[in-house]
Amino acid sequence: MPSAAPAMYVLGVDVGTTVLRCHVYDEAAVVRGSSWKKVEKLCPRVGWVEFDPEVLWSQFTDVIKEAVQAAGLQMNQIAGLGISTQRGTFITWNKKSGKPFHNFISWQDLRATELVNSWNKGLMLKVVHVISTMLHFLTWSDQYLTASSLTFTTQQASLKLAWVLQNISEVNQAAKENNCCFGTIDTWLLYKLTKGSVYATDYSNASSTGLFEPFQMCWSSVLSQLFSIPMSIYPPVEDTNHSFGSVDAEIFGVPIPIVALVADQQSAMFGECCFHAGDVKLTMGTGTFWNVNTGNQLHKSRAGLYPLIGWKIGEEVVFLAEGNTSDAGTAIKWAQELDLFTNVDETSKMAKSVVDSEGVCFVPSFSGLQVPVNDSCACASFMGLKPSTTRNHLVRAILESIVFRNKQLYDTIVEEMRIPLTNIRADGGVSNNSFIMQMTSDLINKKIEKPVNTDMSCLGAAFLAGLALGVWTDKEQLKKLRQTEIVYEPQTDSGEYEFAMDKWIKAVQRSLNWYS
Ligand code: ADP
Repeated sequence: MPSAAPAMYVLGVDVGTTVLRCHVYDEAAVVRGSSWKKVEKLCPRVGWVEFDPEVLWSQFTDVIKEAVQAAGLQMNQIAGLGISTQRGTFITWNKKSGKPFHNFISWQDLRATELVNSWNKGLMLKVVHVISTMLHFLTWSDQYLTASSLTFTTQQASLKLAWVLQNISEVNQAAKENNCCFGTIDTWLLYKLTKGSVYATDYSNASSTGLFEPFQMCWSSVLSQLFSIPMSIYPPVEDTNHSFGSVDAEIFGVPIPIVALVADQQSAMFGECCFHAGDVKLTMGTGTFWNVNTGNQLHKSRAGLYPLIGWKIGEEVVFLAEGNTSDAGTAIKWAQELDLFTNVDETSKMAKSVVDSEGVCFVPSFSGLQVPVNDSCACASFMGLKPSTTRNHLVRAILESIVFRNKQLYDTIVEEMRIPLTNIRADGGVSNNSFIMQMTSDLINKKIEKPVNTDMSCLGAAFLAGLALGVWTDKEQLKKLRQTEIVYEPQTDSGEYEFAMDKWIKAVQRSLNWYS
């Protein structure tokens, strides 16, 4: 009798903002072993957020080794690796020596706020429009700027990279000498895993930098010219699942194939099996991300929903529209650090223990307020505090604020989308909070499905890798592997929250432009 084919295992690694985690999946997409580490954030100055590339690298290799060990497997039983990464965070390094010029600059970093504000003042963008029209290349860049509602944000790498080139002379010099590499986290990890022999990224990561033209599917020459960024510093862009190379055998003892690089929200979308136009997912982790699959069409937004490449697999290119808010988990973590509670699992119960927040409102704006408010100078605030305010009221106000931002973003999406939207699939650490999930379902009057495994970015990376490796044959098979844990259905009339939401909107109005 022929012996059965050996079982195949796939690694999905997600470099999140809070946590870096690895899961080992078997052919049924069941997690066989896991490991995670807290991402160590550095804040060298007010508003600056960085990561040490060497610390990130050793944490990355450690979680892989530990997860494989936890699964009771040997490295040579791993068929391949898919890597999902937080978007917009980037680094530059010396092409010859491979040495970084600076730490990773996080998507949360606000050092380029002034640059962003001056570009968004309109004048600059009008200049772009006029110049591009004059030069007869009113086309892709112009459409791209229109599609992203003519705004730049501090979350994108674009103006922070311009800042680096303006302020770090070593980088500027190296860029002039064609000796500088720019990379998002995936690119840096790929470079390190292959001991410097592969330098690349994928379409989903590239499209999240603010420097890529999704219409033309290439790095934007116009934006690069405007921000004085030499095109030579960008990595080649490949399909999302692609044979990127193999991990150098010295690192894990065997050469593991690297077959998927994907940006985290796009990866979560893939993990949730949101494969069709109109599919919606809501990820609530450090920040909140609403993504809608817009099929093969880029969505042009009035409110500022961001157009992204979801993934490119061969001929298939899927686009997404994204609305996000930077602060969801950050607000919860902040409250925990202030000892409002000890364990995040308590927060739902605390919020439910009071009938309302007693008029207390929290504005979750440690990094400004994004779509549809679009104010990078808004401040975080508590309003309506009274002598009778308890920890439970404060916690409820924080959780409600995450829900109110969900409602604002969902309404924006509904207003703009012409395609019918399906039910919503939620994931991310904060989706474990039943208070937030139920109140969101009530307020938007929609069912929300929560899967068994909420680490969707890991699963998406593993799905993409597994498709490339032949572990799974097609997306229909992936859909059958997806398991729903709970479906939240609307229970309370949204009108019941009208008063609280109106008050909260007033609190938002008073927090606007605080830092301008
Ligand atoms: P990221 O991928 O952005 O690093 P995660 O999806 O891992 O984030 O989510 C981490 C966040 O989820 C943390 O801020 C944590 O406080 C929050 N979180 C986890 N469980 C709960 C819960 N039950 N209620 C509220 N927040 C939670």
